[in-house]
Formats: sequence, C-alpha cells, structure tokens
Amino acid sequence: MKSYRKELTFYVPTRMAFINITPQVNECLKDSGIREGLVLVNAMHITASVFINDDESGLHHDYELWLEKLAPHEPVSQYQHNVGEDNADAHMKRQIMGREVVIAVTEGNLDFGTWEQIFYGEFDGRRKKRVLVKIIGE
Ligand code: ZN
Repeated sequence: MKSYRKELTFYVPTRMAFINITPQVNECLKDSGIREGLVLVNAMHITASVFINDDESGLHHDYELWLEKLAPHEPVSQYQHNVGEDNADAHMKRQIMGREVVIAVTEGNLDFGTWEQIFYGEFDGRRKKRVLVKIIGE
C-alpha cells in the first residue's frame, strides 16, 4: 500500500471565506501516483472547515448569511469562550460545516458525485492556516 501526505497552507485576508481547493487536491493525487484508494482532506484548525458541495456563488453567499444567523460574530461578549479572544462564533461555524471529507479514488481520479467540489471554509481568517491531505491506496 502506498501512502502520501501533504499540508496545504492558506492565508485568507477576511474573517470568513470559502475556497475551492479541488485543483490542489487533484494535484496531490497525481503526485501520489495512487490509482485506487481514499483521499482524506481535513482542516488542521478548530476554526476552519473542509466540506464538499457545489461551486456556486449564490449558495456560498447563502451559507455566509445562514452561519452568521446561527452564530453571529457580534456582540463578541455573548460567548463565554471569548475571554481574551473573539472567535467563539468561528468554532461553532466550523462545527456545523465539518472538519474533513473523504473521497474515493478510482482509476486515478477523485470519484465525485454530480457537481461535487472540495472547499476550505475559513471562519477566523487573517492568519496562516493549514489543511492536511492524506492519500492511501495503490
Ligand atoms: Zn477560540
């Protein structure tokens, strides 16, 4: 069995953003030489997500409004976590949007369903963050 590991790094200049990372994950898969197996992609921070959905800007705007309604950033004093920091809402947004995704690898390609793309979800940006890509198979 072959195994491949890579860390992707992101710096998002805003507090919240969604980035399509499918091209980077595809590049990792090609580098790995693995034709049959599994890809795991996970955020390495507890205020960021990796998830799969549609690459459609209206949907991403809807996510932002929905997440802000569920866990508003302001007022920061509404959260007990915010003693010495202000990112309680980012922890909650990450919980809803998830930590990781697993994608099947078939004949050397990411075996997606219709319209599926992989996204990095940032909820407490303006600093360097990492995403882990782990691929196993043969
Ligand atoms: Zn925190």
